[in-house]
Amino acid sequence: MTNMNNKFEADTGKILDIVINSLYSEREIFLRELISNASDALDKRKYLGLTDKKIANSSETAEIVIEVNNKEKILTISDNGVGMNEEDLKSSLGTIARSGTKAFLEHISTNAKDKKTDLSMIGQFGVGFYASFMVADSVEVTSKKVGDSEAWKWSSDGKTGFNLEKASKDNSGTSIILRLKKDAKEFLDETRLQFIVRKYSDHISYPVKLNQIDKKDSEIKTLNEASALWTRPAKEIKDEQYQEFFSHIGAGFGKPLLTMHNNTEGTISYTNLICIPSTRPFDLFNPDRKSSLKLYINRVFITDKCDALIPSYLRFIKGLVDTQDIDLNVSREMLQNNPAVAKISKSLIGKILRELKKVSEKDLDGYKNFWKEYGAVLKEGLYEDAERKETLLDLCRFSTNENEDPISLSQYLEKMPNTQKEIYYISAETSAQALASPHLEGFKSKNIPVLIMTDAIDQFWLPMVGSFKDKKFTSITQGKINLDELGSKNKDEKNNSKNDKEKQDKEYVDLIAQLKVVLGDQVKDIRLSSKLTDSPVCLVADEGDMDIAMEQLMAQRDSNYKGAPRILEINGDHSLIQNMKSLLSKKESKDLVSDAGTLLFEQARLMEGKMPADPAKFSKIMNQFLLKAIPN
Ligand code: ADP
Ligand code: MG
Repeated sequence: MTNMNNKFEADTGKILDIVINSLYSEREIFLRELISNASDALDKRKYLGLTDKKIANSSETAEIVIEVNNKEKILTISDNGVGMNEEDLKSSLGTIARSGTKAFLEHISTNAKDKKTDLSMIGQFGVGFYASFMVADSVEVTSKKVGDSEAWKWSSDGKTGFNLEKASKDNSGTSIILRLKKDAKEFLDETRLQFIVRKYSDHISYPVKLNQIDKKDSEIKTLNEASALWTRPAKEIKDEQYQEFFSHIGAGFGKPLLTMHNNTEGTISYTNLICIPSTRPFDLFNPDRKSSLKLYINRVFITDKCDALIPSYLRFIKGLVDTQDIDLNVSREMLQNNPAVAKISKSLIGKILRELKKVSEKDLDGYKNFWKEYGAVLKEGLYEDAERKETLLDLCRFSTNENEDPISLSQYLEKMPNTQKEIYYISAETSAQALASPHLEGFKSKNIPVLIMTDAIDQFWLPMVGSFKDKKFTSITQGKINLDELGSKNKDEKNNSKNDKEKQDKEYVDLIAQLKVVLGDQVKDIRLSSKLTDSPVCLVADEGDMDIAMEQLMAQRDSNYKGAPRILEINGDHSLIQNMKSLLSKKESKDLVSDAGTLLFEQARLMEGKMPADPAKFSKIMNQFLLKAIPN
């Protein structure tokens, strides 16, 4: 093919290059992708036909036909669905990058450890059509959009670009002609085709027919079951059929973490066939946080953009809901406020959360997996769904400084010493960072477990939720925490430690005053710490101020953002601090102590992942100290 009048969008070109040149062994998936597109197109036409009788497939049956031309080695896949006009062809098949294009390229490059790239995921990223170039040297798409009078032909060898020209076609719909590669003739074979369709497309609601046009006496044959999978009784459906169904709707491959196929009857009746994919969908953390749960009314696909059907924090749920209790003529926009949709949603959320609870009790490993993939999303519900706060808190898991395997909040309460009144947590970007924090020292030495919070959403739900079973969530990097009162065994000991504390406070008055002069308004206050054991200093947020992790989030969004000054806590049991205190009593050492104070303050900033407040001064003092340690 020469003179391509349109170029592929750059990333699309890269995908095609990989698809054409791969040695991928499961090339048969191209048929799954093309049948899946045809079935979507038939769904769309059915929907349009609800309001426009001219568009409805009244005279023809909605169907997908695979035509085999043995002599010419041509395979044609046709449907009488919505079809595409010139613009659709251009944007869907070539010049506009879709969101999944980049994600798919990334997926391939991270998974291309050996030469054999796994391309079977292609459909999940919304670029499944290009799989046809695994088996065809050239592809021709002729299409006529419903309601249009002209047809268009898109053709390409998948290399440089594509041609778009006017064409003629009798019926609305799409025909895809594949000129098979020399080594792809197996896809003309009836048994092979039948096997592939049964394997991947049996659940499609429309008949997939086989027509061997140059074979004498051969009849047109329907290859699949052609009834919507979710309308069949659950006990007659095999796991593989569910899996194929879910991959068809873009819910990923392999065994889902959870499959739920139920029929609910009552004040509202509906069927749900939903799953939790075994791995995160690529767009799970897109800013729009949209769900793609499909809504069917009486087996007619209506929309996969109905926000009222399921909340954002359950957007990892894939699949569909089919109901007869909504009027087919209701417009997609009106669905958002439809009371029947609200009822279904309420019932469905309850069902999903109950099922998750069951898994959390019966299948610990399964739940651990679930939590790893989707915990951060489910926690959004703590912030957004006050009504189900308790249920959701019960489902949450957290790792602690003592347990890498996440535990529930109830388990945390069981671990607490009985002197402990609050639920302690530490926020950081990674759990390694949290574990290295000086704030944890005192808790470690007193065996008080601390929850580790590493998801951005934690900064939002924690202040909102406040407490669990009357125990307040308390950040150990914020406010004053008196660890001396915790973990002590008896009253005497407590009193002793209180006395010690008061004595220590007096001893350090001068040092604290001097450090306040040196650090000025870089710190809000300076005080003795009860939670440090190994480190000399740390920074904490004042009670009413923003917690340190929240401030980091703000700074990521706005580079000019400056947080409130912190409180510097010093460790009176640390020899460095003790030595500073003694040195201060000699007049000539005042400058040395001041410089040490500056270094310790900057060090505390570094431990929070911040730059020194004054890098030049920091380096200068540091070098003076180094020079003393490494003399001539
Ligand atoms: P996806 O199906 O995930 O959107 P594909 O690469 O398989 O990604 O298809 C791209 C787009 O091309 C589809 O979204 C659809 O708009 C259009 N398309 C493909 N095949 C057909 C068809 N048979 N009829 C109508 N539109 C089609
Ligand atoms: Mg597709």
